[in-house]
Amino acid sequence: MVSDAVEIRNLTKRFGDFTAVDNISFNVRRGEIFGFLGANGAGKTTAMRILCGLSRPTSGEGTVAGYDINTQQEKIKRRIGYMSQKFSLYPDLTVRENIRLFGGIYGLKDKEIKEKTDTLLSMLDMRQERDKFAGSLPLGWKQKLAFSIAMIHDPEIIFLDEPTGGVDPETRRRFWEMIYDASEKGTTVFVTTHYMDEAEYCDRVSVMVDGRIAALDSPERLKEMYRAENMDEVFRTIVGRSGKEDSR
Ligand code: ATP
Repeated sequence: MVSDAVEIRNLTKRFGDFTAVDNISFNVRRGEIFGFLGANGAGKTTAMRILCGLSRPTSGEGTVAGYDINTQQEKIKRRIGYMSQKFSLYPDLTVRENIRLFGGIYGLKDKEIKEKTDTLLSMLDMRQERDKFAGSLPLGWKQKLAFSIAMIHDPEIIFLDEPTGGVDPETRRRFWEMIYDASEKGTTVFVTTHYMDEAEYCDRVSVMVDGRIAALDSPERLKEMYRAENMDEVFRTIVGRSGKEDSR
């Protein structure tokens, strides 16, 4: 049997006395778009870093892309892409240099990097911008570029940490077209977002509160369960019960 893209059991992460991730368990199916929501400080980034092989859990077990989160972190890193909102690109390197750098980090050979660079620049319609500093690009372009770079090695799973923060609705919509394309080609997408309209685009979403998963299902089922018109209401109900501020 082929394993799910992500299989997590009883994952806990403590910092001293403080429990940031508290015994969470969930699976993400292959090819699924999985939304990972929660109030500020709920533990999303902490959990995501463990799934990406960047941090070790205090306890618990699981696999990502079939590899063990406790013992095979280097293998996990090769099979996933990771896009953090703030530090994805080097602003003082050009577009081309960023592609070359990350291609190398993800283990591609020079020839592959060259080919991928051409394809990627054409696909993004950014040939004219290839020698511009990444830092000088509009935010929407930076994010598209960062997404494509995180996909350059054809990862099985892409982790997106608030990829559309601060971007206008039209650019966000176009960004989600890229997410859908990736998903249709079989890539599993694991995404955190502050925008509840985006939560509606996910196949399933989980809502974290105080390090625990308070709800996990498809947006349709969650709306039914919480008798809500939209995901914003669902989110407010779940997080409101815990007395947390309204932020994802
Ligand atoms: P946000 O949406 O604000 O990014 P989040 O859900 O991603 O929130 P985390 O960044 O995972 O939340 O943080 C969860 C909790 O763990 C927070 O209270 C945070 O202060 C704490 N925390 C995170 N990393 C550390 C660390 N290295 N040492 C101590 N506490 C930490």
